[in-house]
This record gives sequence, structure tokens and C-alpha cells, in this order.
Amino acid sequence: MMSLLKMQKVAPILLCCDVDPDREAFSTARGSRKGGLTWDGLERGLPRLLDETAKLEGERGIAVYFNWFFRSDTQMERIYGDFAWPYRAWPDILARIAKRDDEIAWHPHLWRSDDDGISWFQETDDLEYMDACLRKGFEAIPEDYRPSVVRTGWDFHNAFTMRCLSDLGIAADLSALPGVASEGILDPKTRRRIAVRNWTGSPDRPYFPSKMDPRKEAKSRTERLDILEIPVSTYTLPTAMKLVKRARDRMKGRQSGSKFSEPYITKMPALFKAALDYHFRRHDAARIPLVVEFHADELLQDSGAYSMPNVIRNLALAVDSCSRIGLTARFERASVVADGLRRAMED
Ligand SMILES: [Zn+2]
Repeated sequence: MMSLLKMQKVAPILLCCDVDPDREAFSTARGSRKGGLTWDGLERGLPRLLDETAKLEGERGIAVYFNWFFRSDTQMERIYGDFAWPYRAWPDILARIAKRDDEIAWHPHLWRSDDDGISWFQETDDLEYMDACLRKGFEAIPEDYRPSVVRTGWDFHNAFTMRCLSDLGIAADLSALPGVASEGILDPKTRRRIAVRNWTGSPDRPYFPSKMDPRKEAKSRTERLDILEIPVSTYTLPTAMKLVKRARDRMKGRQSGSKFSEPYITKMPALFKAALDYHFRRHDAARIPLVVEFHADELLQDSGAYSMPNVIRNLALAVDSCSRIGLTARFERASVVADGLRRAMED
């Protein structure tokens, strides 16, 4: 019996939620409006997902752990007077996810305002600003919730920010989107950019980044940072789906973006299945974790391109797809997976 159990290989899956305020497209504007922002996704979507997940756990006899990335940064301080305000504003929700043993992680955004908080843009150059945002953001987080795992806002990194997180003792960063790059979107009001990131050429498996460039794996111990990069599992669409997407982009006058897509667990099962299939084709899924993402506000939707019911469908789909290739899906905490990977990589 024991040996049979040992033979049952596990496929680690990391479910990563960026707990941001509601974006306009998703906002139902019923939540409390604090500093002009609403947090309906966190206040209503997140608890509902936990309820729905508990049902699935009971039905399927599985345990699902989530990784929740909370904001603590200069923008929170400017609006609420406390860098780590989100860690303190919802004690019941934080206590509930801590009790589930979910990962409570950190999602710092480098938002900056030049006009007293009327408009905001993404800081990508000013090292002093980035340093204060990250250091003060980290230090403000309550001791009980001190994070060891990070996903940055807009998945942005440069050599400086990665080094900063490493210096703060962060064990793992999950911001890399292999193959995805964007020069950003111009905000019509500020004429400044947001969503700037560049992960061209970065490895699509865990690696220790080079001090010189977070997109590159360090070649030697002296060249490397002591932070493990666990990339998000970006994927390419099957040809037929790619053609449909391209046609839709053209129709909507959208620029056809990168060849790689981000694996959203809130998106339709057909897309999530493509992400799963790509991961299984390319990797030993017992060794390389599947890292998928979503935003809290997407949980407010009952149908459409992103929705709460899709999460439950996709969790079941992941369990079934893993089982079909002889693996047991395990929805894990990122810090636990990072520990295991570190040990395996040091050997
Ligand atoms: Zn974000």
C-alpha cells in the first residue's frame, strides 16, 4: 500500500489571485468607495469563491489552497494613510483565509501620482521611488502576514526591483510571464503608461535570476540573486483558436498582442484546457508547477469572458486532466512549492 501511495505522483498547481481594487470593466459599484476605489471583488467575490470551493472540495475529496496577493505600496499609503491598509481593513477575510492555510502573499504596485492622487501612472524608472515603495510597503505589513512570496503589479520587474525583493528576504517571485512583453497602454488622461513589462526570452521553468537581468537565469552562484523565480504558465493557443482570436482582435481594432497568452482560471474552460495541454506537452508536470492567475474583481461575474463559475469548472478540469495522465492535482501554497524546488535545485 505504502509503495503504491509513493508511486502516485503529484502535479503542483499554484492558483494566484491579485487582490486589487475593482477595475472599471468589472466593477459592480456596490461596494464601499474608499478613496475613489471599490473592493467588491475582495469583499464579495473572494468569500463566495471560498464557499463554492468548499462544495467542490467536499464533492471531489480534494483540498484546494489559494495564493492571495494583497496590496501594500505607496498608492495605498497616499489614499488610505497606511501602506499595508488592505492587510488591516478586512480582518475577518484575512482571518478566514489564514485559517484555511492559504498563502497570504504580496502584490506591490508601482503606481505614482504627480497631481495629488487625481491620476496615477506606472513608475518604471525612478529607483528611489521604487525603493521606498517596496521597502516601506514590506515593512508596513503586519508581522503575522509577512510575505515570502510576491507577484508585482503589471508583472513588472527590472534588475533593481528584483534585487530589492531578494534583499527583503522574499523567497519566491511569481511575476514572470515568459514570452510576454508590452510597452504599456497610454492613459488618455495622464498621457503616461501603465502595464509596462518585458519577459521576452525568460525561461518557462523555475530559475534563480541573474543580478543583471531578471529575465535571465544566473549562470553562476555569484551572479545569482537568492530569490527563486517561478514563472506564470503562459501558453500558445492551438491554431484554430489563434485564428478566431486574431479575427476578433481585428474586428475590435485591437492590436494582436504577443504570441503567448496568460492562463486565467477565470476564463472559459476551452482556454484553460489549452493552457493545461500546453503545460503537459512541454513539461514534466510532476516537477514544474502549473502557475495560473486571476483577479478578485473577475469573481464578481456570473458569466462572460471571465467568471466565478469558470473557476470551479476549471478546478475540476485540472483534477480530471491530471488524473488522465496519471497525476494527482495538488493546489498548493507557493511558499511550500518554492521550498521543495529550492531543495531539488540545490542538490
Ligand atoms: Zn495588480
